[in-house]
Amino acid sequence: MSAIFKSVMNYSRFINSVSAARRTSPIRALTELLERSPPTMISLAGGLPNPDMFPFESASFTIKDGRSITFGLETMKRALQYSSSSGIPELVSWMKDLQTSIHNPPTLKCSPEQGQMDLCVTNGSQEGLSKVFEMLISPGDSILLDCPTYSGTLALLRPMGCKFLTVSSDQYGIIPQSLSDVLSRWSPEDAKNPDSDIPKVLYTIPNGGNPTGASITPERKVEIYQIARKYDLLIIEDDPYFFLQFEKPWAPSFLSMDVDGRVLRMDSFSKILSAGLRIGFLTGPKPLISRVILHIQASTMHASTFTQLMVFNLLQQWGQSGFLEHVDRVIDFYRKQKDAMQLSAERWLKDLVDWNVPSAGMFYWMKLKGISDSHQLITEKALQKEVLLVPGQAFMVDSSMPCPYVRAAFSLSTPEQIDQGLQRLAALIKESL
Ligand code: PMP
Repeated sequence: MSAIFKSVMNYSRFINSVSAARRTSPIRALTELLERSPPTMISLAGGLPNPDMFPFESASFTIKDGRSITFGLETMKRALQYSSSSGIPELVSWMKDLQTSIHNPPTLKCSPEQGQMDLCVTNGSQEGLSKVFEMLISPGDSILLDCPTYSGTLALLRPMGCKFLTVSSDQYGIIPQSLSDVLSRWSPEDAKNPDSDIPKVLYTIPNGGNPTGASITPERKVEIYQIARKYDLLIIEDDPYFFLQFEKPWAPSFLSMDVDGRVLRMDSFSKILSAGLRIGFLTGPKPLISRVILHIQASTMHASTFTQLMVFNLLQQWGQSGFLEHVDRVIDFYRKQKDAMQLSAERWLKDLVDWNVPSAGMFYWMKLKGISDSHQLITEKALQKEVLLVPGQAFMVDSSMPCPYVRAAFSLSTPEQIDQGLQRLAALIKESL
């Protein structure tokens, strides 16, 4: 891809009026300046509380490999203090190195205005997702997505008053021809007309989709990226299951083919380090990441400094190779869980349900045969039989339509529980036929 000529991006085209009106907070800028200053700097500025007044003195964490992380008094003072809105510098730098070695984004060498790769730490990938939509979407805008999709994305987008343009997909993700068909009612030239209602954003979950378990093939990604170039779309690559791909080599990301700087990528540590620590990271072209950071300055201010230091210390101890070894152990676990669900599904659901085997993630997406709508079965009868599943409607753009699907997660239950759960589901389906 690197030999391909770069399109010049006009980022202001994508930013809504709220985002365009954001300005740097002078106080936040001072906090960041102080963070980078030598200890000889005397600060009578800002409103930093005095950490000597905080009650916590030290902390120590034991890692499962037997090593430990200890925060002494000075680290503790920093951990309990405000910090930079883009993330603590050492964690940002670690994550940039990770993105560079995994995705090698072509925009690394661009100038900042031309869309140079930048990155900020977020409170889970959900914060990145919400801030990106809040930067890009205005009421009445159309957004392209494949459906069914993550209910958290629908929950974000619905109140924004945007129109959903659904693109067909299958177990290999978005079907490029369908994307072209949906866009064919516009001309690529419409992207230059500010009054046109041409969509500007494509949202997708490229690996182990939630809820479908589908992963986009590399060939399709290349085609989708070309269509995005033709119609000047931004691609929102929401990829929390990237590190749960069962087979190597991992699929190339949209970020890895992003010659133009049109990809905003959300990564998450929720499935591999901790969901409750709330650490994700948003990668994309600097002009857009800067807008998100301005929003962070004015809202959450930053992800917890304590949490970031905890994660950074672990990652520094591990190094990138230790981190990837850990990811491999996590993948081994989820692969076995997936195999257990596969075995049990074949045992109990063979003639009752259609499904595809996921190549990443935590979910099976099951179509109940002969049942037009799974809602009552799952929310009432399954509850009585003590098996919890999510009815497919939760992931549909039009949730008023009947939906024969259910989502089954293999992440948390033991293989024995998975087996019993699917046995109970099979009995319920038979009763309903
Ligand atoms: N996107 C998708 C597709 C998800 O499945 C999830 C988690 N359920 C998220 C984003 C949010 O994850 P995080 O914990 O990183 O905020």
